[in-house]
Amino acid sequence: MIFLKTSAELEVIRANGVILGQAHAEVAKIIKPGVTTKELDKVAFEFIKDNGGHPSFLNYNVSGKKFPASLCISINDVVVHGIPSHYQLKDGEIVSIDCGVFKNGFHADSAYTYAIGDVKEDTLKLLRATKNSLYLAIEQAVFGKRVGDIGFAIQNYCEDLGFTIVRELVGHGVGKSLHEKPEVANYGKRGDGPKLKENMVIAIEPMVNEGKKAIHQENDGWTIRTQDRKPSAHYEHTVAVKKGKADILTTFKFIEEAISKSEYIVNI
Ligand code: MG
Ligand code: MG
Repeated sequence: MIFLKTSAELEVIRANGVILGQAHAEVAKIIKPGVTTKELDKVAFEFIKDNGGHPSFLNYNVSGKKFPASLCISINDVVVHGIPSHYQLKDGEIVSIDCGVFKNGFHADSAYTYAIGDVKEDTLKLLRATKNSLYLAIEQAVFGKRVGDIGFAIQNYCEDLGFTIVRELVGHGVGKSLHEKPEVANYGKRGDGPKLKENMVIAIEPMVNEGKKAIHQENDGWTIRTQDRKPSAHYEHTVAVKKGKADILTTFKFIEEAISKSEYIVNI
């Protein structure tokens, strides 16, 4: 069942999107070589709690196992679902931060990949391509299109640049549950899949690899890594389908302000 949201519900999700964007920015402000991923997680947890929300991923339950943190922090060849730890970030790494905020009965979900210091040019190209593909996909999130048009936009753009698309992990509907119908794959055919209706809310989240598309899951039951150990990037917005132009309910505005002031994060 695909839920359509009321305009009041869209405003709840948008308000959560602001808290979420600010939580991301609080994290971005302390990203530098030497910081541990657990320290990043603590900042996000406290910011979300201080603003009356709950981190959507904390204790997120998948067949009985619970995710132990507020952020998924995925470094270099980790695609998604990395668990915060005592690992210290290093110059030259890329780090994807995925976060969700639950408040007033609804979730918002977004992700951003940062380049720290001296990152290889090919990897910066991967980040730019993945981020650009997110916005090309959002252009397709309009009444009259289908879910496959979103996937096609991402796949066509990224594969033309020589990158590959992860198949096993997909975007999703967002609402009272973090993951609702429909699945929103990052690959697909034009005109394929469920029709997009006004006020459907979906998370669009391209996961794009510099090398081959194959991935595997680590023994911790969460961390997803590329099989060839080449870098992977991830950007995500929660958007409402509208006539003519999608309404982006999450925001990178605060993140990008933090990046512009950071001595350590490269503005891609
Ligand atoms: Mg997410
Ligand atoms: Mg998501």
